[in-house]
Amino acid sequence: MKELYTSMDSSRIGFYKSVLDEAGIVCFIQNEIGAQTLNVISPIFQPTLCIVDDSRFEEAVELLKPHHYPEETASSDWTCPKCGEDNPAGFEVCWNCGTEAAQQAPVVKS
Ligand SMILES: [Zn+2]
Repeated sequence: MKELYTSMDSSRIGFYKSVLDEAGIVCFIQNEIGAQTLNVISPIFQPTLCIVDDSRFEEAVELLKPHHYPEETASSDWTCPKCGEDNPAGFEVCWNCGTEAAQQAPVVKS
């Protein structure tokens, strides 16, 4: 058993689990029930995605890489030119109205 990913975002954990399930990698979510029932923000109860077969750990990491959007990035968030919503740097289109990020003028830094 090996811990693969820990996050308070249980929906993301669930998604990762489905990816591994599809690939036939046996995995389970630790602390999932505890986090939901106790409803407290504590590192102890953070849902953790674990894989059973340690030898498939690297394979699991590779599988999740395309789905793993970065926690922080050098490029900055951008503001939609059409609706003014702030979008994370990783988004290519506005999550609110669908306008492409490329359409916005580059941010001029003084
Ligand atoms: Zn927009």
